[in-house]
Amino acid sequence: MNTLTLSLSNIDHNYNCIREQINATTQIIGVVKANAYGSSSIHFASRLVELGVDYLAVAYTEEGQQLRSQGVKIPIMVFYPQLDALDTLLDACLEPCLYNETILEGFKKILLEKKISHYPVHIKYNTGLNRLGFTPDQSDWVLEQMKNNCFQLESVYSHLAASEAKRPSALCKSQIELFEILKIKHSSVSNQPPKFHLLNSSGVFNYPEHQYDMVRCGIALHGFANHPDWDAHLKPICVLESSITQIHQVKKGNFVGYDHGWQAPQNTQIATLPLGHADGIGRHFGHHKGSVMINGKKAPIVGNVCMDLLMVDVTSIDCEEGDKVKFFGELNTASTFALQGNSISYELITGLGSRIKRIVKE
Ligand SMILES: *Cc1c(COP(=O)(O)O)cnc(C)c1O
Repeated sequence: MNTLTLSLSNIDHNYNCIREQINATTQIIGVVKANAYGSSSIHFASRLVELGVDYLAVAYTEEGQQLRSQGVKIPIMVFYPQLDALDTLLDACLEPCLYNETILEGFKKILLEKKISHYPVHIKYNTGLNRLGFTPDQSDWVLEQMKNNCFQLESVYSHLAASEAKRPSALCKSQIELFEILKIKHSSVSNQPPKFHLLNSSGVFNYPEHQYDMVRCGIALHGFANHPDWDAHLKPICVLESSITQIHQVKKGNFVGYDHGWQAPQNTQIATLPLGHADGIGRHFGHHKGSVMINGKKAPIVGNVCMDLLMVDVTSIDCEEGDKVKFFGELNTASTFALQGNSISYELITGLGSRIKRIVKE
């Protein structure tokens, strides 16, 4: 019925493309949070491991725990560990990114109780995104804490607020400056300095001069770098396809869908597709905003998207029930489709529901 096909060889292509942007010694952190951006985290992560990725990263502990239970052995960072899952994090040999006093103290307490020393941790600084992280003026306190031998400080990082812009904004410049100061501070105190990292996917393409020791890439591995110029070098890895469930003829003046969503201005042929907002195709794609491809032609979504189904206008398309429907793929990409609904690739692909069958191909 509905399939999301994941191309492993396109992951290879995107990984190599990222490698070409950075120095040979710079490490890549493959970000596989949110089921590898809605695809299939174990297949995605395993391929990255085969490609030689240095680290994996997830958002929450349970995501890392799942990868461990599926046999992933390489280091996994947890970007946003929560207090209530720190024991689980430790049991699964995951590496926490410590972003405030509460989480640092909480983790320290567990390590001391269990008499664990030199446990790998990462420190996250907030340099201007104002989401998570220690403020730069807490760095003395952080450095003091890191002297406790329960910790092994592996890396220090921050996250840019607007890395999509080809030229850095004033905010971006100030984030880089603050990070430089933090880097100097953290380098000088130890004879084994931690690694530093600042860039996500778009950062790698726009500001490779600030790659430091590692880069954190998610969306670029999926074929998008938030700019058409960079997207042209990458290959989308996922194709979302469906098929026509029913075709019917709607007379001029009749309505289609809930709430009189659309009134046919002329006799119209409508195809109903088995995908709705419960599958991640939200209502914002309705009312002719989004369109799908059927037999090489564009069919606009009419009226309101329902929970499990949606309707498209196929009046000018030669098609029958059972015919294939393409929502997005290599040519009409997820990024383009997302834009039609005033969304972005990240939101569209991570929001695809579990009813859509994931298929993995070479
Ligand atoms: C999700 C995430 C990334 C990956 O960002 P992309 O734009 O997908 O490359 C990097 N760093 C942090 C802290 C993240 O949360």
